[in-house]
Amino acid sequence: MPMIKVENLVFDYMTKRAIKGISFKIEKGSIVALIGPNGAGKTTLMRCMAGLVKPFSGEIYLNDINVPEDSRHAHKYISYLSDVFGLYDNLTARQCLRYAALAFDIKAAEIDSAIAETAEMLNLTEHLDDYAGNLSRGLRQRLAIALGIIHKPQFIILDEPASGLDPEARLELSKLFTDLKNRGHTLLISSHILAELEDYATHVIVLDDGHLIKNEKLLRDTTLLKEERLIPLEIRVRANPEKTVEFLKKQEKVKAAVFENNIISCTLRGNAEGLHNLLKSLINANHEVVEFMVEKSSLKNAYFETVKKEKKDA
Ligand code: ATP
Repeated sequence: MPMIKVENLVFDYMTKRAIKGISFKIEKGSIVALIGPNGAGKTTLMRCMAGLVKPFSGEIYLNDINVPEDSRHAHKYISYLSDVFGLYDNLTARQCLRYAALAFDIKAAEIDSAIAETAEMLNLTEHLDDYAGNLSRGLRQRLAIALGIIHKPQFIILDEPASGLDPEARLELSKLFTDLKNRGHTLLISSHILAELEDYATHVIVLDDGHLIKNEKLLRDTTLLKEERLIPLEIRVRANPEKTVEFLKKQEKVKAAVFENNIISCTLRGNAEGLHNLLKSLINANHEVVEFMVEKSSLKNAYFETVKKEKKDA
């Protein structure tokens, strides 16, 4: 059974329908990247899923909890970090965490260990006695996440968590998300920084003008790929790329082979075995292959497909 189920969701602001009937499911242990142009409805969808606003119609279930109807109950299992958040600047990180622990009903005897464990996970241990108001932006972001996960929620929603962070802080966040996933949490993360989402996301949902444009599993470890699917490939050869393109065009499962910007790109309908066979046949046919790369995921393509569509409709 999927952990989260959204069905025919519609959300209206006074003057605008922001979510226009969308449905999808999220399995436990996924990291779902929520992407789409400005105004697509990402924040609105996240706020509905966090049980902070009630949709006009449709359903949101977290396991068997009806989120809009029973949002108080759902909040025990959901954490939501808004793109703009505030902290109590006059409290230390430890006091902020204690306040969050009490708010989430963590038993008194367990609070100190919950603070220590959460601080450790977020690399905040050394800063527990610093005032929130004195923390750097990266540390504030980590403290805000810590406050939301101290009660170990099953489902963590983060709206633009990496915006404004330097590359090192962003890398740390990426590691944290993978760590949370490995601990069994499920994450929904919106971001405009596609390259980073690609490092840790397992699925992508693309929204555009309140519609769900795409919902798919990202291609990660191709060595484990069993079912056939469309695999975008980039190939470099030492000489005669045109000949290689001709060869590829004759392969039944290869489509759209072109040589552009010094690289051959194409798509293969296949799995791990198909990839291996294609490489073998290229080498057997004396094409001097020096690079044979599977595009890590279709996140960028998924995004730009929506942007292209937007421009076409404009
Ligand atoms: P961004 O990437 O810019 O954060 P988003 O994908 O998160 O955008 P939302 O903030 O969910 O998009 O907004 C979806 C639509 O609803 C937009 O057209 C926005 O202008 C509109 N909207 C958002 N909040 C309100 C509001 N309070 N009243 C009326 N319209 C709103």
